[in-house]
Amino acid sequence: MSSTSEVTIGGLVGTRWKPALSVEVTDGIAVLTFDLPNESVNKLNRAVKDEFVALVTRLERDTTVHAAVFLSGKPDVWIAGADIEEFLQLKTATDAERLSRDGQMLLDSIEQLRVPIIAAIHGACLGGGLETALACRYRIATDHPKTMLGLPEVQLGLIPGAGGTQRLPRRIGLTSALDMILTGKQVRAKKALQLGLIDELVHPSILRTVAIQRAREVAEGRRKSERHGGGVKGLLIDGNPAGRALVLRKAREQTLAKSRGHYPALIAAIDVVAAGYERGVAHGYREESRRFGEMAMTDVSRQLIFLFFATNELKKDPGVDPSQYPELPVSTFDPLPVEKIAIIGAGFMGAGIASIAVQHGSLVRLKDADHARVAKGYAAVRDVLKERLNKKQISKIQYSDYMALVGGTVDYSGFGNVDLVIEAVFEDLAVKHQVLREAEAAINPTAIFASNTSTIPIALIAQASSRPERVLGMHFFSPVHKMPLLEVITTPTTYPQVTATAVAYGKKLGKTVIVVNDGPGFYANRILSPYINEAGILLDQGVAIDIVDKALVDFGFPVGPITLIDEVGLDVATKAGKIMADAFPDRMQPARSIQAVVVAGRYGRKSKKGFYSYDKEGKKGEVDPSVYALFLAPGSIPMVKSIAPPSAPEGVERPDMPAVQIQQRTVLAMLNEAARCLSDGIIRTPRDGDVGAVFGIGFPPFRGGPFRYMDSLGIQIVVQRLEDLNARFPGRFEPSELLLEMARRRQVFYSDERS
Ligand code: NAD
Repeated sequence: MSSTSEVTIGGLVGTRWKPALSVEVTDGIAVLTFDLPNESVNKLNRAVKDEFVALVTRLERDTTVHAAVFLSGKPDVWIAGADIEEFLQLKTATDAERLSRDGQMLLDSIEQLRVPIIAAIHGACLGGGLETALACRYRIATDHPKTMLGLPEVQLGLIPGAGGTQRLPRRIGLTSALDMILTGKQVRAKKALQLGLIDELVHPSILRTVAIQRAREVAEGRRKSERHGGGVKGLLIDGNPAGRALVLRKAREQTLAKSRGHYPALIAAIDVVAAGYERGVAHGYREESRRFGEMAMTDVSRQLIFLFFATNELKKDPGVDPSQYPELPVSTFDPLPVEKIAIIGAGFMGAGIASIAVQHGSLVRLKDADHARVAKGYAAVRDVLKERLNKKQISKIQYSDYMALVGGTVDYSGFGNVDLVIEAVFEDLAVKHQVLREAEAAINPTAIFASNTSTIPIALIAQASSRPERVLGMHFFSPVHKMPLLEVITTPTTYPQVTATAVAYGKKLGKTVIVVNDGPGFYANRILSPYINEAGILLDQGVAIDIVDKALVDFGFPVGPITLIDEVGLDVATKAGKIMADAFPDRMQPARSIQAVVVAGRYGRKSKKGFYSYDKEGKKGEVDPSVYALFLAPGSIPMVKSIAPPSAPEGVERPDMPAVQIQQRTVLAMLNEAARCLSDGIIRTPRDGDVGAVFGIGFPPFRGGPFRYMDSLGIQIVVQRLEDLNARFPGRFEPSELLLEMARRRQVFYSDERS
């Protein structure tokens, strides 16, 4: 006969307060369910920790309980991690250190508990969640795509603070642990099993039953978690100081080379892991909380946490504000369902969009001008999905299901029942007008027409439309399957429901969506334009190509501006540049160098010839020295010797332009334009501008985005530097009115506690 009792920890029965942890004891096995009230996910906050402490005390004392199983009451989340809102209240490193210490102590008591706890994991098990699982005596996880395990703290500029830096390497081996801690990557349950991070993998339907069985077996000493330690290789490395020293040294070197010193938490994490091996785990824990405290106070962490909150806010943002349309009924703000879509233009972007749409269950009609191009687009979709299949990110069945959702056409057949058309044809207004007219003749009058144009104002495209209220921009970034941003561009005539639908669909595709107003280049490409131009002008003035690129990679961009245009394609970049120059002739005149290179038929990587040289497979090599002769007068400006054009006088070296000058000229041009986008109403808020720049064009995340960066520099300093540059190069650096005004009033873009 079984006996069951229900208890709540922390009690207060009959009041509004509801506990997060509930306990049900059956036949000596306690089933603990974590279900944080009024939240969609389980997070670890102070109140939950207090409940945990009470629970541990109770389990320690209650001799009728022999073992416990720890489950989540949420559908897709076990524990998502610490409550980051609480981090914002930390004012000193000592506060943060204490928070970490408390977490460590709690998990230590779980690990040492008389009663073994079995972690029964279904859904996200991240950060403090994984640290909790590591402190349990045995771990079972479900073989389900939602079950992902990881320590993402470094992505917030922090390090794991509740024992993760010590327990993880001892569980899965130093090499794998460093990989997880330093990348913050999440692994699927299957991979977690291979790594030894979990002990068992089960189908979700039997998780509870198996966990209860294992709890009994562990309590009776019939089963135990085996440490993996990275296999034989791990044993050789972890078991000897020389092996560990080598791994740690390599990790340090690679991390510094990759992060260029911009992310101090990465090095702190390595230090702390090393400390635990050098002077014992107790010392490792002390160092972990000390460095956690230190990292929580860094500007880098503050900026990354800001971006985390900003993207979360955008996930909840419907993209339209009903209060601005008091005359419209509420139902007109509900997004329309989008199940079937058509994409016109099966090129680089069209195929990219198709590849993500099918993975989110959309039926896709891919149209191009002829069969060969449709086939090329279809093959490009297949390549993206094949890559995911090869990386085991999708199953064979999913692969075939997704491919079955793509259909090709050279006419508009099948367009009659689509909900949304995304146009991704050449960046040419006449072509866009033509396909818009043709599409409108074929689609349902309620269907939405979205253009993926990079620069052409949507209102200009909509001039050819018979229903411009259903036309907007959906600007994806390349490569579409990797870049997280989507700009939804609205015109004064775009109907709010159309905007809401595009925003909702973008989110469904997994994108972070910002709604921007219409104008040349919208937001991301508008701020990119003066930055690229300035980089080109530096080349016109004789600065070496790789020196420019290196300066901006050192600043924190993922690639330099010249590499970027080689990647995008110089033909595409110059076409966009012309549109921007026509719109803003005073400050966006294209650089001579970029024009000259494209005129010479060098389009960058796609033509295997650009500013850089490329091999047959398109792999980028060094700067191609012959390119200088295209835009520099022979021998007039000697270049740095190593990459001198053939015409440069032998042995003459020009002193390099300091990186800081290159960075200031290019980045200030971008910052000034971002401020103009805000005052012109292109973006709604500095937050959107920051998210757009970081996720759309790779603005360094640790600087928070252009607006956060301007705040950290000080607006007066920004204005002063712009004025200095404007005195040297009249016109291009004229400070925007907004910045001048803010400098006069000593204002900042962000004044809340998150700044
Ligand atoms: P692309 O040249 O790779 O593809 C364009 C495709 O459109 C070609 O396959 C072409 O055959 C097809 N096409 C042309 N006219 C057509 C017609 N009348 N009917 C059907 N198909 C037609 O170009 P892309 O790089 O994919 O760019 C497409 C659009 O996306 C452009 O507006 C571009 O500005 C924009 N965009 C490009 C990028 C990028 O990085 N390449 C990024 C964002 C947006």
